[in-house]
Amino acid sequence: MPIQETKLIWRNGEMIPWAEATTHVLTHALHYGSSVFEGMRAYETKHKGVCVFRNRDHIERLKFSARVYQIAIDHSVEELMQACRDIIRKNELTSAYIRPVAYLGYGEMGPSSQNVASEVAIAAFPWGAYLGDEGMKNGVNVAVSSWRRMAPGTVPAGVKAGGNYLSSRLVSMEAKQKGYAEGIGLSHDGTVSEGAGENLFVIVKDRIYTPPAASSILAGITRDTVKVLCKKLGLEVVEQALPRELLYGADEIFMTGTAAEVTPVRSVDDLTINNLDFPITRQIQNAFFGIFNGETEDEWGWLDPVG
Ligand code: PMP
Repeated sequence: MPIQETKLIWRNGEMIPWAEATTHVLTHALHYGSSVFEGMRAYETKHKGVCVFRNRDHIERLKFSARVYQIAIDHSVEELMQACRDIIRKNELTSAYIRPVAYLGYGEMGPSSQNVASEVAIAAFPWGAYLGDEGMKNGVNVAVSSWRRMAPGTVPAGVKAGGNYLSSRLVSMEAKQKGYAEGIGLSHDGTVSEGAGENLFVIVKDRIYTPPAASSILAGITRDTVKVLCKKLGLEVVEQALPRELLYGADEIFMTGTAAEVTPVRSVDDLTINNLDFPITRQIQNAFFGIFNGETEDEWGWLDPVG
């Protein structure tokens, strides 16, 4: 996906021109993967203007990720939330993808270096449907990857760190090179984990299943949004370890993520899901996009107007 340049990037508390947001080749993060980041979206809502979606939840997750790897972020949650609003407003964006990143910078070599200063930056740019408009409507074809996700006790899957995306790259590249829209990773024990950049929901006989946190997933904010919306819709979501074969007999499957939003899956490993009308997925999609067009009341304070 090519990046559409905008004017300004927030870095360490200041707005700087896009082209000046560069870093040294000996940046710690470049060598050791010592970065943490977020993917967020701003939507042009019908009723509240341009809003960042679940701003606080994303920034809190960024802080959590940084804490695990001891990457200092000197800015408060409130300051970073304001920076996200500012980056949208100052770049005159309406709907956009927001990418905050914190990483260990230049100064020392060695993975455990304690004296490397951290850098924090936030960029924003336009980004449409990650898995395509056609996929959003008619579902995407996905494949189970030959690569397993990282096992518990290796690197934490529940932390959104740059290094984790080496796993995502392998899972996603393999699928795309074989003509699929996305790859699904299995956990170390062969149960279903998640997509390369999406959580997974599987519907069998009106029951909605999703793998638990212990199945090497990033517990997505969209996943949480869907869980809350399902409760409101009277749909039960069961979190449990899922055997791979559940994917092959599913009535419906959908994937969730900030980039992917709520995208239906049409087939897994060339086996088509049972119900291509996606009745439950559509209900959830409508409730999700309803947050932005005003049809779903935002009871949770998820919409944060950029002002
Ligand atoms: N899993 C992985 C590996 C991801 O990269 C993402 C995207 N951040 C997700 C799940 C979905 O998370 P969220 O809904 O918070 O974007």
